[in-house]
Amino acid sequence: MLWASKVAIVHSVAEMNILDSAEQELQYCGYCPKMCRHSCPVAEVSGNESHTPGAKMDALYQLVLGNREWNEETTSTMWACTGCKHCTIYCKHESEPGVRLIAARHEANARGVTHPALQDYPERFSSRQKRLLKKVQEDLQKWAEKKSPVAFLPGCDALSKSPEKVAETMQLLNSYGDVRLAKVTCLGYPLVASGNKNDFSKHSNEAITELQDTKILIVNCSACLHTAKEWYPPQNSFAIVSLSEWLLKAKTKPVKDDDIVYYHDPCYLARYEGEIDAPRNVLNRYAEVREFSWNKEDSQCCGGAGLVPKTMPETANGMAKQRLQEIASLGGGTVVTACSTCSFMLRSNAPEGVTVHNLSDYVAEKERKDPTPEGKAI
Ligand code: SF4
Ligand code: SF4
Repeated sequence: MLWASKVAIVHSVAEMNILDSAEQELQYCGYCPKMCRHSCPVAEVSGNESHTPGAKMDALYQLVLGNREWNEETTSTMWACTGCKHCTIYCKHESEPGVRLIAARHEANARGVTHPALQDYPERFSSRQKRLLKKVQEDLQKWAEKKSPVAFLPGCDALSKSPEKVAETMQLLNSYGDVRLAKVTCLGYPLVASGNKNDFSKHSNEAITELQDTKILIVNCSACLHTAKEWYPPQNSFAIVSLSEWLLKAKTKPVKDDDIVYYHDPCYLARYEGEIDAPRNVLNRYAEVREFSWNKEDSQCCGGAGLVPKTMPETANGMAKQRLQEIASLGGGTVVTACSTCSFMLRSNAPEGVTVHNLSDYVAEKERKDPTPEGKAI
């Protein structure tokens, strides 16, 4: 059986072969009454019964048992998951389809099977990182060349889609203390989600080398933050903190007005890292914070994770639209989130009347209105 065969050990990602311990979860999913089925946004938006968590786990179980061949068709449902962990909230057994289905992608790749949209993905990932690094070194050089043991990682989507916002965030962060822009553009979550653990191992080692003089790394991508905390070797020299935690400690000057904002919890921050209060406490300094119906640990995924935007782009965009529909039906409003990928997904699918900000953009805009923040060095 699959869990009896070990794959190559790549520093601390050896344990990424989580299928080795998955047998009981796969059995539970096969026989339980599927109390989680309503919670899967991929299944709901695609309308495909085979995308419910139980069905995806059962398809995986059949592969693991050897009842089916590993091929493009039989492995297709393992790609219909953002890894959002919403199903786990409703599972009495605390099973983790999101973690298992992503682990299965590593096994599929090892067997030479991948999603057609992800052929040559490590090469494409590497080219994108080089392009983004060039952008950092040329367009954002002023911030990248600063001397500070504290570095900020904006996230690939922020660097790629809104570099001007990255510059604004750097300005904001430096109004509280010296922070440099990291010359690492991604901590490797896409390589984990695409099932390329050896490429992830190489990439993470390179990132650690580049960040060797860093004491604190502020991360604005929830999936990469979780990835580094979970899989980077414990001996790396820097502490990893979220942008929300950093802004909370910055003790910015409260400039609260009558603004109302809805906070969207990124899955990897809220469910994997348990970070619920920090972003709300930052926002509370500036606005009244209101909740989506699905909120905190029970947040609904925006569709941006698990490489679903590449494997099922219509479904991913549909998830973002569905997430914002509630605010549109209330007459519109402002949505703030704390992740570069969530910001991009929501912003690019926002209906009329709904404006989406990343947390740092929102704070920067508020602080610009009152340019005398009393918060200084942390
Ligand atoms: S995740 Fe839990 S509730 Fe959902 S199908 Fe599996 S065992 Fe059942
Ligand atoms: S982790 Fe999220 S996307 Fe994946 S099966 Fe569970 S609810 Fe669906």
